[in-house]
Amino acid sequence: MFESLSERLESAFKNIKGQGRINELNIANTVKDIRRALVDADVNYKIAKDFTDKVKDKALGEKVLLSVSPGQQMVKIVQDELTELMGGKASEFNITGTPAVILIAGLQGSGKTTFSGKLANYLKSQKKSPLLVAADIYRPAAIDQLHVLGEQIQVDVYSDRENKDAVSIAKAAIAEAKAKNKNVVIIDTAGRLAVDEVMMTEVANIKSAVNPTEILFVVDSMTGQDAVNTAKAFNDRLDFSGVVLTKLDGDTRGGAAISIQYTVDKPIKFVSNGEKMDALDVFYPDRMAQRILG
Ligand code: GDP
Repeated sequence: MFESLSERLESAFKNIKGQGRINELNIANTVKDIRRALVDADVNYKIAKDFTDKVKDKALGEKVLLSVSPGQQMVKIVQDELTELMGGKASEFNITGTPAVILIAGLQGSGKTTFSGKLANYLKSQKKSPLLVAADIYRPAAIDQLHVLGEQIQVDVYSDRENKDAVSIAKAAIAEAKAKNKNVVIIDTAGRLAVDEVMMTEVANIKSAVNPTEILFVVDSMTGQDAVNTAKAFNDRLDFSGVVLTKLDGDTRGGAAISIQYTVDKPIKFVSNGEKMDALDVFYPDRMAQRILG
């Protein structure tokens, strides 16, 4: 995950690591290299600039300190700022309610259905009793896919192939969850190839009807800057509570992920890094920053 950003940053630090003392010149050079590393890794230019301006101010403020290693000092400053940029402290995942309702939204192919399965699997391991809901009324294959995953992880799946109203499917699923003592309902909604009005209205209607404690926006981290625009469109309409980054195991440059957090100011809650049901991690900004700069 984030290997490419990691490698680029490592080379940005190469110069200053060999030097005896942190000073204005080597700070300026390193900061320039860091900015380039971020932009190369797909971080939006303005965000990269804001970021390196902060790093520069901090480094200049600290330069009076007699540092043993200017390289380490810069790495530490960048790590702290990167943690902040990725959301600061880890955020809560709210599954209160009887049942708690989690709405999953995103474009088709982003990894929504796979993530829904993984989340159910994760909650099961936390001794919760989840119910998966197939609310895609357009693609029968999506319903089949969720049933396959449900079987694999031994979690019940609610679907109704005759019903062409996603809101009523969601409501019926919650009634079923209550009847069967399920305490978390995960609603996998329909996705389109691009943001469109019908899809947005449908998912917004589900939101008002079921009052979810979490609305998770699932985004493919390989889609670069487009991911940022998609996130903005979904957030404007849904005011989602968190972001799920998928396909971080792939050849992603990772920067888009950082830009999303900055642009919509919503926490990344989970990262998905593979097709298997256990390839899911809770996202901790500090650990991720440490790993990137490892
Ligand atoms: P949906 O249309 O948003 O429901 O997307 P799917 O869950 O069907 O995922 C689309 C494709 O991406 C499928 O082939 C998944 O197996 C794959 N996929 C989903 N998440 C990941 C991931 O984290 N890593 C990788 N490598 N593939 C993934």
